[in-house]
Amino acid sequence: MTVVGHLINGQRREDSSRTQDVFNPAKGVASKQVALASKATVEEAIAAAQAAFPAWRDTPPMKRARIMFRFKELLEQNADRICALIGEEHGKILHDAAGELQRGIENVEYACGAPELLKGEYSKNVGPGIDSWSEFQPLGVVAGITPFNFPVMVPLWMYPMAIVCGNCFILKPSERDPSSTLFIAELLHEAGLPSGVLNVVNGDKEAVDTLLTDPRIQAVSFVGSTPIAEYIYKTATAHGKRCQALGGAKNHAIVMPDADLDNVVSSLLGAAFGSSGERCMALSVAVAVGDEIADALIARMTEAMSKLKVGAYDDKSNDFGPLITRQHKDKVVGYIASAEAQGATVVVDGRQARIAGCEEGFFVDATLIDRVTPEMTSYQEEIFGPVLQVVRVATMQDAMDLINAHEYGNGTCIYTRDGEAARYFSDHIQVGMVGINIPLPVPVAYHSFGGWKRSLFGDLHAYGPDGVRFYTRRKTITQRWPSANVREGAEFSMPTMK
Ligand code: NAD
Repeated sequence: MTVVGHLINGQRREDSSRTQDVFNPAKGVASKQVALASKATVEEAIAAAQAAFPAWRDTPPMKRARIMFRFKELLEQNADRICALIGEEHGKILHDAAGELQRGIENVEYACGAPELLKGEYSKNVGPGIDSWSEFQPLGVVAGITPFNFPVMVPLWMYPMAIVCGNCFILKPSERDPSSTLFIAELLHEAGLPSGVLNVVNGDKEAVDTLLTDPRIQAVSFVGSTPIAEYIYKTATAHGKRCQALGGAKNHAIVMPDADLDNVVSSLLGAAFGSSGERCMALSVAVAVGDEIADALIARMTEAMSKLKVGAYDDKSNDFGPLITRQHKDKVVGYIASAEAQGATVVVDGRQARIAGCEEGFFVDATLIDRVTPEMTSYQEEIFGPVLQVVRVATMQDAMDLINAHEYGNGTCIYTRDGEAARYFSDHIQVGMVGINIPLPVPVAYHSFGGWKRSLFGDLHAYGPDGVRFYTRRKTITQRWPSANVREGAEFSMPTMK
């Protein structure tokens, strides 16, 4: 069976003392194995990155950016192969994988602007004959640890920007779908990246803990579930590293009585069930304001959901695919059962999904649950499956209080025709990314991505302008070239401009 290895110092490596199965989730069978890096292998990657750093930090930003331009072209030329690799191991349908890739490419495009983004700040005459400027220097060797649900896009949130800023990078992708991530890292080398600037180590906790504790790693970017994000943030910062750790979510959509229900139904279908709900921005809770809109929403959703098509990644007519593993499927099914046991009404039940030709696949069909209340486990925790829950409230303020009280604060949306209500909502909601009649308000590459509360540990959001700041360190230089015939005496008071 193929073993997916590592990419260290520009070379494929197979340190396969420990391996783990990689599944085709539509078929439910192991199709490959992934090597799990030992501490020694990760240390080798860090040494390669450290050795590459001096020459890379001195490479002009324009030359670094040119490699990213070529990388973008290679990503586009290899799009079919990349999407197939995503589909085989993640299970998302090819059209969805193409969307993921495009969003990733947009981060590469933003990184191509590094020469402009790194220009710094300059002030002439801050004192007599004195000039001052701030420049943004690379940190050194930095690391990224990424989740299974976007094996191409989330790594592209991180290393293109880190690298064009002059850093060297160690990526530890998800061990559940490693092939597309490794393949695009090879494309970046084909684009001209010098060996050692980007290294990929597949692995589990042993690899991650090595990155979190090794003193040569200056900063860690993480995207994944909240318990692990919290662990990463605490451990990395305790070891003196800069850290941004993005976690899980519970994204609510408020459906106001005046909402355009056609728009609500079509956009909720995609936002709740697209990618089998395995998106940190998936809309998993609809908060209906008033029973009248709740009843209408349930009726319309039930009808629309009967037309959804679920299946394997390579049939583009499918709307969404399987879940990532059997264990995750069992967990999602368990949440549906718990909601039912705690008093909610399962209106559309996806637990018995049967897909012809994919009988062993990890499928759950689209599920709709009504009369969910805040005490229920399925409301409090992230399900990460194709399950939409409906909570009924009396007023918009009740809906906002509910969202503000939730431990997560990643994304949210309001459906309304009332501009004043929408403005009040965006002003006062305790969530990092807000949509107004937009179900998945994922910021574009030239803004930054991040949630509030327990959806993000750290100060800076991912990619965009915050990405530039995260991967650089400000240095401020103040300079005077005194004239040979002007000599000032010693000055013992604090220098001022008085
Ligand atoms: P996960 O937390 O299980 O894994 C993420 C990474 O952490 C992987 O590389 C994994 O190998 C590593 N990891 C797992 N357990 C570890 C441990 N005990 N010690 C050290 N490292 C460990 O997440 P996942 O299941 O791959 O991804 C789904 C989660 O990611 C969901 O919660 C989703 O909301 C979240 N997510 C968040 C965002 C965001 O931007 N906020 C984006 C995508 C996914």
